[in-house]
Amino acid sequence: MSKFVGAHVSASGGVYNAPLNAKAIGAKAFALFTKNQRQWKAKPLDAQTIDLFKKNLEIAEILPKHVLPHDSYLINLGHPEEEKRQKSLDAFIDEVQRCEQLGLDRLNFHPGSHLKKISEEVCLDRIAKSMNETLQQTQNVTLVMENTAGQGSNLGFKFEHLGYLIDQSIDKSRVGVCIDTCHMFTAGYDIRTREAYDKTWKNFDEIIGFKYLKGMHINDSKPELGSRVDRHDSLGKGKIGLDAFRFIMNDSHMDDIPLILETIDDSIWADEINLLYSFVEV
Ligand SMILES: [Zn+2]
Ligand SMILES: [Zn+2]
Repeated sequence: MSKFVGAHVSASGGVYNAPLNAKAIGAKAFALFTKNQRQWKAKPLDAQTIDLFKKNLEIAEILPKHVLPHDSYLINLGHPEEEKRQKSLDAFIDEVQRCEQLGLDRLNFHPGSHLKKISEEVCLDRIAKSMNETLQQTQNVTLVMENTAGQGSNLGFKFEHLGYLIDQSIDKSRVGVCIDTCHMFTAGYDIRTREAYDKTWKNFDEIIGFKYLKGMHINDSKPELGSRVDRHDSLGKGKIGLDAFRFIMNDSHMDDIPLILETIDDSIWADEINLLYSFVEV
């Protein structure tokens, strides 16, 4: 077994519930929020919570490297205003430390937004600065930036954005990327046919590099190619179609990393996981 598929499961009631929620749908990987994603502050994780999380991870037979925690939606590491960038940075460092405490080795985040107040270049430099400050103040956790659909003023929709942020990093062993198939597609990267899929990933490898691929979000897309609108759909129901997911399940570049569904109907996640595994050709 080389593919580790799961979904972004609920952690309500406590982070230790997430591994059991994953197990219940037959997941071999999962994503979670380690705090309420719509609030700035959270109470620190206590020893009991941390122990129970680790115990439940064992019960679910899921390895820490197959867990891809996602940071709060409030955080903008490239915020044009220094005071607000600092607030985001503090919250981000707290999120990284929560991952450290839970024994997890990676944290997924959206790079940042210029809010139409600064240029893309200046915003990318602010994100790079925030990432480097985080690397200096934390240990062991890899900062996994997600490609975006390019909706609004969100950066990270071009492979060049992510490649630049890696270039600027002071510790390349602790940075990586998560590629969301919906965001990739709506940002203009086609993966629907064998030819398009190979071309897009060749481009990815040249600009970013497969060694930085630390996770994926597996979503179909409601909007069209290049629309720069972020709306996920269930697998096979959207504009991407099933072939792309069949290619992924048979692509060794996606071995041993968390492959996370963020599709819109959580009642069919177990079926979608089974569907994905059924694509694996032996
Ligand atoms: Zn995503
Ligand atoms: Zn999305």
